[in-house]
Amino acid sequence: MLPADIFEKMKVLKFGGSSVGTPEAIESVIKIVSHAIGNGEALAVVCSAMQGVTGTLTDLTARASRGEDVADRVAAIRERHREAIAALLEADQQAEVLEGLAHYFAELDELLGGVRALGEASLRTKDRIMSYGELLSCFMISHFLNQHCGKTVFADTRALIKTDSNHGRANVDETLTNKLVRDFAREHHDRIYVFTGFIASNGHGDTTTLGLGGSDYTAAIIGAALDATEIQIWSDVDGIMTADPRLVKKAFSLKRLTYVEAMELSYFGAKVIHPPTMLPAQARNIPIIIMNTFNPGFEGTVISSEATLNGSLIKGISYIREICLITVQGGGMVGQKGFSGRLFSSLARAGVNVILITQASSEHSISLAISPSDIRSAENAIYEEFRTDFLLGQLDKPLIEDHMSILAVVGENMRHTRGLAGRLFSALGRSGVNVVAIAQGSSELNVSAVIDRQDLAKAMNSLHDAMFLSPVKTLNVFCCGIGNIGSTLLTQLESHQDYLEEARHVRINLAGICNSKRMLFDAGGIPLASWREQFNEKGEQGDIHTFIERASALNLPNSVFVDNTGSPVVAGMYPDLFGHSISVVACNKIGVSGPFERYHRSKELAAQYGVDFWYETSVGAGLPIIKTLDDLLISGDRIIRIEAILSGTISFIFNNYRDGRDFAGVVREAQARGFTEPDPRDDLSGLDFARKMLILGREIGRDLEIDDVAVQPLLPEACLKAATVDAFYAELEKAEPHFEALKRRAAAAQKVLHWVGILTDVEARIELCMLEPSHPFYNLTGSDNILSITTNRYLYNPMVIKGPGAGAEVTAAGVLADLVRVAAK
Ligand code: ADP
Ligand code: ASP
Ligand code: MG
Repeated sequence: MLPADIFEKMKVLKFGGSSVGTPEAIESVIKIVSHAIGNGEALAVVCSAMQGVTGTLTDLTARASRGEDVADRVAAIRERHREAIAALLEADQQAEVLEGLAHYFAELDELLGGVRALGEASLRTKDRIMSYGELLSCFMISHFLNQHCGKTVFADTRALIKTDSNHGRANVDETLTNKLVRDFAREHHDRIYVFTGFIASNGHGDTTTLGLGGSDYTAAIIGAALDATEIQIWSDVDGIMTADPRLVKKAFSLKRLTYVEAMELSYFGAKVIHPPTMLPAQARNIPIIIMNTFNPGFEGTVISSEATLNGSLIKGISYIREICLITVQGGGMVGQKGFSGRLFSSLARAGVNVILITQASSEHSISLAISPSDIRSAENAIYEEFRTDFLLGQLDKPLIEDHMSILAVVGENMRHTRGLAGRLFSALGRSGVNVVAIAQGSSELNVSAVIDRQDLAKAMNSLHDAMFLSPVKTLNVFCCGIGNIGSTLLTQLESHQDYLEEARHVRINLAGICNSKRMLFDAGGIPLASWREQFNEKGEQGDIHTFIERASALNLPNSVFVDNTGSPVVAGMYPDLFGHSISVVACNKIGVSGPFERYHRSKELAAQYGVDFWYETSVGAGLPIIKTLDDLLISGDRIIRIEAILSGTISFIFNNYRDGRDFAGVVREAQARGFTEPDPRDDLSGLDFARKMLILGREIGRDLEIDDVAVQPLLPEACLKAATVDAFYAELEKAEPHFEALKRRAAAAQKVLHWVGILTDVEARIELCMLEPSHPFYNLTGSDNILSITTNRYLYNPMVIKGPGAGAEVTAAGVLADLVRVAAK
């Protein structure tokens, strides 16, 4: 044991590649170390190679083995070190350090020369070459710290950490290592130790490495050997986060994790900490704290044995971007004892690391996730082991899928919770992510899923939303149509976005806009305040097909397509959209009033892909009509009869065609006030009204076509046939006696005239009615729409919905409300 007084309060501080990647970063390191020294702490510092250097050395080796000249690349590494020395060391001390580095560079040059001459590099040689990354950086940094913080001693861990000969990822001989590290520490107990991360050596003294990212592990090995009070890992993020912040913008820092949680997260790709790091620390119960060199104020993520049982259900979601799935299947496998044993031993012998295993319950197939670099070895091993079975046809050729990723959700609390896997898969399903295989760790601490690589970002983000109840849900909105309603919608979204986010927990990310000629995309969000300028400046040419193609290719979670057009072509695209797991919100009524078959299929597809299809504004604009019918049906009511005036024009005309007025005059006034289409016959023909009745009929379960809505014509034949609008008015004036007679008859009976849509179980029609004073429509005024619903519950006193049924403001507001409904699911 170490004398307690010497190493009391020993802390290990490990600085990763990004923390020592530039002179500025190293300056922060110097400050952090000074601060710790100032607190009277005894320190062991562990550093990585300067950021990117390990990668460059690997690349150099490959190039040299192909005979390429790599002098330039080596020179670039030298230059980076030189630059740091020039920036951080007083002039009179620079020569000594440069000389030390020159020594290493000479060795490196010699090694690379050998590789070029041989035309190959063994794993052993690769380890040797890679070790220079840490040797160079740590040698240099020990001098920096020596000048700025206090006396240091440079510790080349090749002499202290002993491993087996598994080059590339060697296994540590703990007993021997502990002794060597302690002896070294004892010998230099009054110094700040600066240990090289990542590198070690085997029994013959050959250089070995601890696996990529292995400097974290070095820190834990040193920490365990010296019985440190804590191991600090200084990196470039605010600790361990709920997901990789590079992929998931909404990721947030975790305060605490258990060793096992951290291990599972890092095993499944969270590279912020290297998986084996947890083992030595856990064995001695030394807390690991992940700190941010670039944000020293961040208090750190603590990894210890303490679980936070009342914390959130899961701790994090991690991923491995590149994996390959091998599926072995065949009748020969059923019930064969020892089959999986043979399979896994053969892979282990071939050095293939199996990341995940799932077996179909039929025992007919086993799927294994491995790293793509192991495909060849794995295949060979399997063919070798099961040669006879293949020959006899008992096993099929292994199926290789090399475009896969794994994601894993991890957390101690998962084992106490039911239904978690369900939540996971429904979140993925809703975003249209196909899950190819799943596995639950035997510890019940993780559930992992194999998915297609192209879905990775989408899957991670939607899972993160679902799992962390991140109170805010992002909708990725593609807005088609920027006329009156479309642009009003965008204006409303802009002024409501804060409210939506704070009170409704919905964030609108406008990912795309198009009209019939142009389109604009920005997955990061087109600013709502300046969408029009952006659209005009940066919009590209394109049609609805390209727009939808590109929107689908973006593959964003919670995507919603908003159809603010009246176009049949756009309406015809809904099935495609659903097929890409994109919800549709439409004020366009063509989609739901076209052939019944299309209406039905759209609804089915939306359900099948787990997305939404809302079109409240297709009838009565912002009035809550379709929703209300749906609520009545859901609650078990039966709809007996609907009466409705669903056209503002028609409402206005009959509300004003009273007493001394003439019909044509009222129509003219309606037109002058902007209540009609340019040709008023488009309203008076009743087609639009009939479409709305049709939609209502379908909503209450009737499979109607447009021809099933019987429209009693309002206008005489001659009016309809008139060639121009003026000619139409002339004909309408001629028809005045006809209308006048109707009006008189109604007045004589104390009634009012209205053109009313009527829907029952057996009929759907629009006809001219004379309504008595007790009728709910009797007192209608202005251009309001009105609808009365008679049901089993609202039998003698029907439910009435009334209000403006047109206009950009109310329609856009209804579309907005539908959007928020998508988010609510
Ligand atoms: P270092 O150079 O300090 O060793 P690494 O690059 O190895 O740093 O690890 C830090 C990186 O790990 C971060 O920049 C981040 O992108 C990534 N990372 C992946 N998953 C996570 C996670 N769950 N939490 C934090 N960082 C993560
Ligand atoms: N330099 C090595 C790597 O990049 C070890 C480390 O930084 O942890 O993986
Ligand atoms: Mg690292």
